[in-house]
Amino acid sequence: MSQKPSDRLAIEGGAPVRREVLIFGSPDVREAELREVEATLRSGWIGTGPRVARLEEAFRRYIGARYAMALNSCTAGLHLSMIAVGVRPGDEVITTPMTFASTGNAIVHLGATPVFVDCQRETLCIDPQRIAARVNEQTRAIVPVHFAGRAADMTRIQEIARAHSVRIVEDAAHAIETVHQGRKIGVIGDCTAFSFYVTKNVITGEGGMVTTEDPEIADWIKIAGLHGMSRDAWKRYSDEGFRHYEVTFPGFKYNMMDLQAAIGLPQLERVEANLARREQIWRRYTEAFADLPLRIPQDPPPGDRHARHLFVILCELEQLRYDRDWILQALHAEGIGTGVHYRPLHLHPYYRKQFGYREGDFPDAEWIGARTISLPLSSKLSDDDVGDVIAAVHKVLNAAQR
Ligand SMILES: *Cc1c(COP(=O)(O)O)cnc(C)c1O
Repeated sequence: MSQKPSDRLAIEGGAPVRREVLIFGSPDVREAELREVEATLRSGWIGTGPRVARLEEAFRRYIGARYAMALNSCTAGLHLSMIAVGVRPGDEVITTPMTFASTGNAIVHLGATPVFVDCQRETLCIDPQRIAARVNEQTRAIVPVHFAGRAADMTRIQEIARAHSVRIVEDAAHAIETVHQGRKIGVIGDCTAFSFYVTKNVITGEGGMVTTEDPEIADWIKIAGLHGMSRDAWKRYSDEGFRHYEVTFPGFKYNMMDLQAAIGLPQLERVEANLARREQIWRRYTEAFADLPLRIPQDPPPGDRHARHLFVILCELEQLRYDRDWILQALHAEGIGTGVHYRPLHLHPYYRKQFGYREGDFPDAEWIGARTISLPLSSKLSDDDVGDVIAAVHKVLNAAQR
């Protein structure tokens, strides 16, 4: 039977599902952000100032944390948090290979050794049992990642950390709205680092936030993020009269600007509304993909809340004639942008060369890494956009099926 022209895959010369590529991870920016940015520029105060302070307070309240410190990225937050909890050169830090480069890089920048342990195929998060098997005298910290917005098993991870006097720094780049067993992510570990990068659930362009319950850590990160200059140095140009600053140690240039906070303030006000929209899209995907040769994300256990940051499908390669990368190309040809979260970090050239990691070291992360595709999930997507994604995924996977 001959196929209708529209059934022919765009990658094989057929008509695409949509002409304009649907960008993966496009930010949901509205009028309120434009107004706040303009007001900031007109105010004459663009750098770190009152809007950053407002964003810190709003974020602190949203999380329910004692302290929140704004920085220019989550990477900066991970870096400072690990110094703050006492990671020193030569220490080992346990983390997952199923993460973005910056989790591992921040460990390397401290002169510490990233010790990967494998993750779980169901949750895509680090496997607590494997942490327990690997933790030792050299371990200074554990850095779990709440993958795609699903909480890692913090109850188990906390038990392990306490038993071995190891600190916890959470990579919550995906997890602003996440809850673990009734506890908000951001109040569990010693420090939690969030990201406001352009693809994340709340954006400031570049930006991040660290929360902690520890006043000393909060104080130190605040100072370390701005050259090590004495507290509230930004006030030195304010109308409270001239103040000298003092450098107490050589800190970093990690501060957030008011111009960035101006984007973040209205974003944070819409955080729950945007999550509700992504939950709708999530439900449509879940229903639409039930019969395809895919694994789709399972809901977290009762008591947890998923931040719905990434909708990750895992291709059942055994049932397909093509590999994951071909499917990515075919989806792109149909006009659907995608992401890959992640090719496991231990297999990147630097980590292989420097730490001797090899293929086969973490079979579950590698299994996920060969199959994973992230579909568009922005709250900006229209119902038609979502329909296009569903149509393209059906078209490509039906054609690719053995
Ligand atoms: C985005 C991301 C980061 C880095 O965030 P930045 O704000 O860009 O530094 C770190 N970890 C994970 C898991 C991420 O997805």
